[in-house]
Amino acid sequence: MDVVEREKLIIDLKSRIAAGNKITKEEYRQAAEGLILAVNPSSLGYYNGIACGNMGYVRNDLPAEAEKFVERHELEHLLQTGKEKSREFSADLAAVKEYPWGLLQTILFSLRERAKYYNSPQCYVSTLWKTFKVYFLPW
Ligand SMILES: [Zn+2]
Repeated sequence: MDVVEREKLIIDLKSRIAAGNKITKEEYRQAAEGLILAVNPSSLGYYNGIACGNMGYVRNDLPAEAEKFVERHELEHLLQTGKEKSREFSADLAAVKEYPWGLLQTILFSLRERAKYYNSPQCYVSTLWKTFKVYFLPW
């Protein structure tokens, strides 16, 4: 999918959402196939995924359900209007409705994965707390 096709898909989905139309889980999954790219984790630092411009990126070593959850989370960022109270919480909410086990798997994966980056338990716990606030508090 080239840049024009990606932009067209995002605009189409955003306008359907704005009009109150339901987008099915399958439609979101197909959109994610065109808009979200699995990449080497080293290119994302310690993040599971990121969305920028009209593309999203997820690390390619996520367990299956976590991958679906993070893809849907990043897709949601591409479709956000900017009016969300918390962009992260809002993206989590959209993703957890479709992939609840993916959320659990993402949390477990992240707890294990992040431990590799911190040699101090205090720093690890502090970072987990900051992450929790960003991703799981709705304000
Ligand atoms: Zn996010």
